[in-house]
Amino acid sequence: MKNVLFAVSEAVPFIKTGGLADVAGALPKAFDKKEYDIKVMIPKYACCEHLNEYELVFEGEVDVSLAWRKQYVGVFSTVVDGVTFYLLDSEYYFSGPKPYGQIYEDIEKFSFYSKVVFEACKILNYHPDIIHCHDWQAALVPVYLKTLYKDDPLFAGTKSIFTIHNLLFQGRWIIDEVKDKTGLPESVFANGDLECYGEGNLLKGAVLYADKVTTVSQVYADEMKTPEGGEGLDNIFRFKGDNFTGIVNGLDTDEFDPSKDKMIFKNYDVKTFKTGKRENKLKLQKMLGLNEDKDVMLIGMVSRLSVQKGFDLITYMAEEFLTTSHSQLVFLGSGEDNIADKLCYLSNKYPGRVSTNVCYSEDLSRKIYAGCDVFLMPSQFEPCGLSQLISMRYGTIPLVRETGGLKETVEPYNEYDKTGRGFSFANYNAHELLETLRYAQKIFYDQKKDWDALVRKDMKLDFSWEVSAEKYKELYDGLLE
Ligand code: ADP
Repeated sequence: MKNVLFAVSEAVPFIKTGGLADVAGALPKAFDKKEYDIKVMIPKYACCEHLNEYELVFEGEVDVSLAWRKQYVGVFSTVVDGVTFYLLDSEYYFSGPKPYGQIYEDIEKFSFYSKVVFEACKILNYHPDIIHCHDWQAALVPVYLKTLYKDDPLFAGTKSIFTIHNLLFQGRWIIDEVKDKTGLPESVFANGDLECYGEGNLLKGAVLYADKVTTVSQVYADEMKTPEGGEGLDNIFRFKGDNFTGIVNGLDTDEFDPSKDKMIFKNYDVKTFKTGKRENKLKLQKMLGLNEDKDVMLIGMVSRLSVQKGFDLITYMAEEFLTTSHSQLVFLGSGEDNIADKLCYLSNKYPGRVSTNVCYSEDLSRKIYAGCDVFLMPSQFEPCGLSQLISMRYGTIPLVRETGGLKETVEPYNEYDKTGRGFSFANYNAHELLETLRYAQKIFYDQKKDWDALVRKDMKLDFSWEVSAEKYKELYDGLLE
């Protein structure tokens, strides 16, 4: 049995601001403990949830120094669904109302966290064979491993993996402050290992120092090697060669299951989807004030209201689409006000045909996944994407732009040989989106049998974490052989 330690800034069930927490919560459970025992180390934020539902065991305490600073840390452990979580307690660093704040504070906070990962292992007398670090907040772990802790016998032979969940966030800050806050030796900075275009850049350091680097789809990995997708670091990713790969995230298939989901109007499975989805559609239409029509194509979108998600394409072509078709649109999202305003304009102008819901609602999101025929994701970029996986599991055909994880998971439908899983378009262009919607309508309205076969096929796909875990296992095996 080999030890793998996840160094990560958030994990379900304790703290979640995005998909990273789902990965950190779900992936360790999908491993066979006889081969790899994965433990997870996160900060014990004051804003952590469910802490009182678990028995926290105090493992020890230590004063940790970071350059000229020194702060107390307490190490706690608890077990969730068979996975050990270590929670690192520092009132000084982790007591804010949210895990993340201003970048200048976060640089110091997560430099400290990364250092504590090693000090906590010492308290626990725990030797990790691999430290698997996630996103910029844990980016200094591979750097510390090869510098400050390289001669520590507890970490002899320890390898590191760094996984990027979103390249937009790199931990960039004024280089002199990064020098001061990380406490790293001057040689690291003399080589420019933590510097990019004159700025300090923690993520760059992780990419250079980690033994393996991964991201959450192979297509996103390939995009990161290009100037368009590399966010200024494309040369570093190209330099990494075969040590940089992509592994698609899984889906919690128990949580997202239309045959058991308590939030949808009627449960259904691959055998009963026709009646089940019809009832979900009619009740959703009624609930949202849309015209009740079981035969109309209902197109849904559940998303952060962010430029990344392609809303400018939708608002650009929506009126042309609505005035030339019978289909209906339902939006659920929260985020940027100007996007919300444009979607509300559409629902005001086309009552009964467009429903805009500006809020965060797990309940409504499930009803949309179950009741719609098509799920829209025309993203500018998408590292992996979860929503298209959920929609396929609910028999709602995704219509996506061919980018990142969307390109990898939604093979385009081919009406001649009946291959593919959904509808897609290549260029970030509103009329390509419109044409693709029209093509989807043609299959939906005129080739009903083909449509139903597509629904059946998508519902049967296996997106479980076990598939991803197998790929990570191969990566771990390769590092330790
Ligand atoms: P990202 O992580 O970039 O936001 P993903 O597709 O990977 O995009 O994951 C988004 C997840 O958040 C999906 O499960 C989606 O259903 C959910 N979600 C997004 N916005 C909302 C909302 N307003 N209400 C409910 N769920 C939402």
